[in-house]
Amino acid sequence: MRYLSTRGQAPPVTFSEVLLKGLAPDGGLYLPTHWPKYEIADLKKSLGAQPTYTALAGEIIWPFVEDALNRDELNDLLEKTYASFASESIIPTKRITENLWLAELFHGPTLAFKDVALQLVGHLFDHQLRKSSERITIVGATSGDTGSAAIEACRDREAMDIVILHPHGKTSEVQRRQMTTVDSLNVHNVAIEGNFDDCQNLVKAMFRDDEFSQAINMSAVNSINWARVMAQIVYYWWTSIEVTGASKVKFCVPSGNFGNIFAGYGAHLTGLPVEKFIVASNSNDVLDRFFKTGEMEARTVAPTLSPSMDIQISSNFERLLFEILDRDGQRVQTLLEQFHNEGSLAVDASTLQELNIKWASSRVNDDETLEMIAAIYKETGELVDPHTAVGIAAAKHNNEDPDIPIICLATAHPSKFPEAVHTATGIKPELPPHLDDLYERKEDYSVLPNSLEDVKEFILNRTGN
Ligand SMILES: *Cc1c(COP(=O)(O)O)cnc(C)c1O
Repeated sequence: MRYLSTRGQAPPVTFSEVLLKGLAPDGGLYLPTHWPKYEIADLKKSLGAQPTYTALAGEIIWPFVEDALNRDELNDLLEKTYASFASESIIPTKRITENLWLAELFHGPTLAFKDVALQLVGHLFDHQLRKSSERITIVGATSGDTGSAAIEACRDREAMDIVILHPHGKTSEVQRRQMTTVDSLNVHNVAIEGNFDDCQNLVKAMFRDDEFSQAINMSAVNSINWARVMAQIVYYWWTSIEVTGASKVKFCVPSGNFGNIFAGYGAHLTGLPVEKFIVASNSNDVLDRFFKTGEMEARTVAPTLSPSMDIQISSNFERLLFEILDRDGQRVQTLLEQFHNEGSLAVDASTLQELNIKWASSRVNDDETLEMIAAIYKETGELVDPHTAVGIAAAKHNNEDPDIPIICLATAHPSKFPEAVHTATGIKPELPPHLDDLYERKEDYSVLPNSLEDVKEFILNRTGN
């Protein structure tokens, strides 16, 4: 298996190269040269009627990583990865109404779905760095969930340092504490006096600075990393097998950067039957507008109760564009340049029509989000977080065929966003046992001005390069 760039101008590379890189040299994102195909009957034959999550993950992931590690090593990494999850089935599914199901992706260490992939990516990085005796510095910017998930995935590893920039005073307290209370020598938290875009711009500027990025052997774990998408493909197969035995199903996914739902499409391209993908947006509805009009136009970001979806540029959308344009990298490149220069791009009417066979979307504002949290609690006794509630509301808007189950991905634990849940239900959701002293733990982070020179100096000093 080799990997290609969505912009068609970069040479194919191996999984090992894709893992540590992220972006292709032509600015595109990596995708496999072909999608391996699985059939439910074959999977059951090799895994038994009731496979474990890690056994299924081994089968699905193996063809993608074949030349970077052997099968026993992969199984071993998967066992280690999912041992950190608080639920025995790793990703439990629950029926909430007649045909709506929840897939709880939040039983990892930081209570958001990002753990499912990042925990594995941490182990894959570690494995590869040991083999090559390299040392890297992972640098990332976060508005909340990604930072803590990346820190938990990379903490205490000998071959890496991790530096996470967050906007000072602009993340929720739970999110900040999940990052700043990790007591590990290779973890470095920086609060930047600025907003999330400032943090992101600092990271981009450091990547462009060849001398600096080479000096610290800089790497990233952001959501355009192929390995994250790959790890997420597994739970679409898993939940579909659980709910329907892998027959007719729709998925509804609270979306921001489009990494999660694109992994669902990846599962479909590997053979999983999926009737429809429902893209759920909050008031930052760039994706919903695209699936309704065929035009993608970025507007300014408005803060909402579901902050991990407060995005106007969905990086992973480029991967879908590549697939629907029959893998024509040149056209993807032209469209993205246009988006970059003019702030919008469009596909023609026939492409949109074809897309709408498999894709639907919906926009859910904060009022409806709170109403949905309250309604689900009243009807089922379940507390759901605001991101999950956006997804459930979008599923209800798109439930025209009640015979087909819809699996709504529950992307965060309700205790990660306690204020919204409290406003809607009057109940303050409790943190799970491994985090129940989070508010008492000692925090450690450095506050720096929004200055590239200051941040570079900090990193050089702290990482021993
Ligand atoms: C990151 C995140 C999302 C958005 O996922 P994408 O892959 O960026 O579309 C949704 N909900 C929660 C809780 C998240 O942390």
